[in-house]
Amino acid sequence: MIALTGRPPYIPFYPSLSCNQSCSICFNRHLTLTDDVTISDFGRMVSIIKNLGIPGMDILGGEPTLHPDLPELMDLVSRSGVKVSIRGNGTHQLSIHN
Ligand code: SF4
Repeated sequence: MIALTGRPPYIPFYPSLSCNQSCSICFNRHLTLTDDVTISDFGRMVSIIKNLGIPGMDILGGEPTLHPDLPELMDLVSRSGVKVSIRGNGTHQLSIHN
């Protein structure tokens, strides 16, 4: 039996559905591409997550490193105190300095 605490340990989020690959197994293949999240919308979402007491975010894609503002988005999360992880496909290089 799983005990529910009412608060998830993290929120998965897709800042961009764009990807530099076209894997046959991809669950995103048939989705309509939507606009990448803006910095201001992302900031509002991080504030809500923090105020709800949710400790973390898991950033996924698409390929999240293709989002042009990813360093700024990660800086925003980092400054909020919410823990963050990024899962990419490993084919696109991006350096984020702390
Ligand atoms: S790398 Fe991931 S998001 Fe990109 S096409 Fe493959 S499965 Fe889909």
